[in-house]
Amino acid sequence: MKDRTLLMIPGPIEFEPAVLQALGAPTTSHVSPDFIDAFGNTLERMRGVWRAPSGQPFVIAGSGTLAMDIAGANLIEPGDRALVLSTGVFGDRFEDLLGRYGAEVTVLRFPIGETVDFERVRAELEACSYKLMTATHVDTSTAVRVDPRPFGRLGREYGVLTILDGVCSIGGEELRQEEWGIDVAFTASQKAIGVPPGLALLVASETALDAWRRRTTPVANYYGDWGKWLPVMRAYEERRAAYFGTPAVNHVVALGVSLERILAEGMDARERRHERLGRACRAACRALGLGAVPTSDAHAANTLSAPRYPDGVDPPVFLKAARSAGAIFAGGLHPQISGKYFRIGHMGATRGGDLLAAIGAIESGLKACGYAFEAGAGVAVAQAVLLGCTK
Ligand code: PMP
Repeated sequence: MKDRTLLMIPGPIEFEPAVLQALGAPTTSHVSPDFIDAFGNTLERMRGVWRAPSGQPFVIAGSGTLAMDIAGANLIEPGDRALVLSTGVFGDRFEDLLGRYGAEVTVLRFPIGETVDFERVRAELEACSYKLMTATHVDTSTAVRVDPRPFGRLGREYGVLTILDGVCSIGGEELRQEEWGIDVAFTASQKAIGVPPGLALLVASETALDAWRRRTTPVANYYGDWGKWLPVMRAYEERRAAYFGTPAVNHVVALGVSLERILAEGMDARERRHERLGRACRAACRALGLGAVPTSDAHAANTLSAPRYPDGVDPPVFLKAARSAGAIFAGGLHPQISGKYFRIGHMGATRGGDLLAAIGAIESGLKACGYAFEAGAGVAVAQAVLLGCTK
């Protein structure tokens, strides 16, 4: 029997062999000509993936939380007002984070499974003035997607900076950072970008950089200060070396490889592939009688799904049996419903065949729990969607 278990959690994901080879290649000097060129290419490719032709990319060793931290640290000064739009655990995280830098934070929390109601946001922006607001493109705890378009539009209309947490979306869900008026959009390497955990990736608009330049107090985070990193990013793009902290050389090269592959697939085609995977997964779970955390398919993420367990299914038994059948899924994360649902990642290099195998493993897990269903019903429906035989 093949010793391979599909990693179908919402990050880290399955990675492409070419990316893993780059990661395992002999480490070079961070000032060697090859690396300078690779870093420069990587930064240029980020603009293509973020669709931010005049954005400023930052590649910094760390995880997605560091990307959140960098956005907050550089844009908040003590006493600034910040509005957090929360659709789950990762939205909530911004409340604590921005508060650490002295922001006065207001949180608009949306019911579990619901997306952002932008009429509520508009009313809040009418009532109070804010320096910035945050939204989570896809909150990984609920699989709810927020539309970045009205978010960016309202930000521009009210002169509020917009920070988009794209950790579980960028490289999978449609994003047009510049056209949609998003000031900072960030992610981490281990999700739809397709590189093992280790990099925080941000793209900042000129408006965001201007706000940072107008600060009257120093950035209260030494490692994350754009003032340290901006000259480094600019230098590598001009194909010169510069130093503040040693870059994660192998990760940066691997990122360049992954971004090249993403752009070769084409952003439109890639988004369509994710949309189809998401639709297939949701349809399969529905065919098996599973509910979902997102209250509507219209705002359900395409990068992950969050099916609810049917009555009588024991989460540890289900997850263990699914793993034995070949696929690893993640348990629930939202503290209020964590034992009631599980999460399936289907982003980045995930192919239709991986999803079919994953749905097969879900059926095995359900069978192990004594749940009654028609064997193969989920796999058949997923395949029909993947083949385009159904809407
Ligand atoms: N935001 C979102 C939407 C996430 O899904 C995650 C990670 N699951 C984070 C932020 C934090 O990223 P990391 O775990 O890489 O620090």
